[in-house]
Amino acid sequence: MTIFNLGSINWDHCYQVPHFVRPGETLNAQNYTLNLGGKGANQSVAASKAGASVKHIGAVAQGDTASLMLNELGIDISGIEQQPGHVTGHAIIQIDSHAENAIVLHAGANRLLNWPWVQEQLSKGGPGDWLLMQNETNLLEQSARFARERGMRVAFNPAPMDKSVTLRLLPELDLLIVNQVELQDLSEQTELELAIEKIQRQCSVDLLITLGSQGALYVSASERNQVKAFSVKATDTTAAGDTFIGYFLASRCVSDSISIALQQASAAAALCVTQAGAIASIPDAQQVKNFLE
Ligand code: ATP
Repeated sequence: MTIFNLGSINWDHCYQVPHFVRPGETLNAQNYTLNLGGKGANQSVAASKAGASVKHIGAVAQGDTASLMLNELGIDISGIEQQPGHVTGHAIIQIDSHAENAIVLHAGANRLLNWPWVQEQLSKGGPGDWLLMQNETNLLEQSARFARERGMRVAFNPAPMDKSVTLRLLPELDLLIVNQVELQDLSEQTELELAIEKIQRQCSVDLLITLGSQGALYVSASERNQVKAFSVKATDTTAAGDTFIGYFLASRCVSDSISIALQQASAAAALCVTQAGAIASIPDAQQVKNFLE
């Protein structure tokens, strides 16, 4: 079974600054790092590190080395299109002396995917495979419908949340994965149970809700499973959600057990929050195994 992840690939340019740049000001950065990121890439890396077969579907600028980095992490990159004349998605991130950030994001090639290309990639999928998507690329509805027609299961993580896109996609989904804020935005309910009820009234989709340090909850028509977060010293929660999602789906590829998938995902995400960074903080399967022993 393979996870086909239709997802973003971004370069994160991070600048340490004494304060955010003011209008008309030119400011020297105190430090600079360049990191591979994007929710799509993060989730592909997490699923691949968990041991799943992952095919990433996306786009980057002609000649960009981002896909080679993903390939080194075990991901099938034959579905990543190199687009002449376009730039790879990227973020300009200022981090000030209070560790607050200010971000300019440009989707670039992530939102310029061509349907014939994506369709050709998805044609390699079939029953048992998953299509995973986040809200950082175009072609979500078409891809979900096409994957469903091929017997694939479809999971969607609506980040960043766009309510109308998500409501339109709901009937095409097997699994909706949200954090608490996304659930509230989508349901317009602050109370967890009311929010779940409202979404389930609209559609029979399974719901996976991550609750930060409170753990996670899985609700379907036939079962309800909860997992507590592991108690760890959290230093940086970046990519915790992406790690959780990648590990959860990787586990679902080899087992029907929701509780095993929640346990694996929760352990991986707990390890992730103990480390700084995004992709750099995603643990591999051996680290998760050791943690759980
Ligand atoms: P992010 O946007 O930071 O990637 P998110 O908001 O999408 O995260 P969360 O619900 O905050 O997702 O966290 C995802 C999972 O990470 C949680 O379900 C939990 O298992 C784990 N997690 C988050 N914070 C902690 C913590 N402080 N301690 C242990 N585990 C945590």
